[in-house]
Amino acid sequence: MFKRNRHGIQIKTPEQLEKMRAAGLVVGRTLDLLRRSVEPGMTPLDLDVIAEKAIRDQGAIPSFKGYMGFPASICASVNNEVVHGIPTDARKLREGDIIAIDCGAILDSWHGDSAITVPVGEVEPELLELIRITEEAMWAGIRALTPGRRLSDIGYEIERYVTSQGRFGIPSEYGGHGIGTEMHMDPWIANKGRPGRGPVLAPGMCLAIEPMVNLGTEQTRVLADDWTVVTLDGKPSAHFEHSVAVTHNGPWVLTALDGGKERLSQP
Ligand code: MG
Ligand code: MG
Repeated sequence: MFKRNRHGIQIKTPEQLEKMRAAGLVVGRTLDLLRRSVEPGMTPLDLDVIAEKAIRDQGAIPSFKGYMGFPASICASVNNEVVHGIPTDARKLREGDIIAIDCGAILDSWHGDSAITVPVGEVEPELLELIRITEEAMWAGIRALTPGRRLSDIGYEIERYVTSQGRFGIPSEYGGHGIGTEMHMDPWIANKGRPGRGPVLAPGMCLAIEPMVNLGTEQTRVLADDWTVVTLDGKPSAHFEHSVAVTHNGPWVLTALDGGKERLSQP
């Protein structure tokens, strides 16, 4: 039995939120392991093998595998790849690369979805800065997840933060989403735009917040594999994501190991 509000957004009971948290922790732990595993000489496929084992060892199912035909348990997007890269062993990771790893799992029918961008060895300062800005933009969006605020406030806060840091591209075609008994549910969430629009955020909503930030322009294209999104200008891009529950006490970051406590306590 799932309650939906009048906008069609699934509202979870406190018991269901605990199950979302358990699924979120599977993803959080898996990404924590992947972050520590990344090093020059590995292939994205090596990371996929690690991820699938970690997810299954926790009693969960990798949600990406087979999703609309996707062949792997993670998306691995290197350098100019924005999102949805397919992990293969065609190219080893090199010192100076950045890799975005997106991961999802199903535990007891509930979904978790999260992404990180990790430097491979030593990388250029401007890439570290791109990673930092993208992660901070995600947290700016997450801080907007309080009861009474409106859906479009999320994208507004993400864009406002990115713009405060300089000139970057925020792709318009990709965004966040509701999450629960499916990975992708209503509503779709833009990563930019005007505030004060759309449904009012309410306790029990679970939303995946996932900004992508390009070092160059916002334009993207999809490669012939029909999955990999790359920047049109060939410049690097970063991606971060957390699945978050709206609660009376503020955002509960389901895919963060500490529930978001540390980052949300900072101004
Ligand atoms: Mg994801
Ligand atoms: Mg997502």
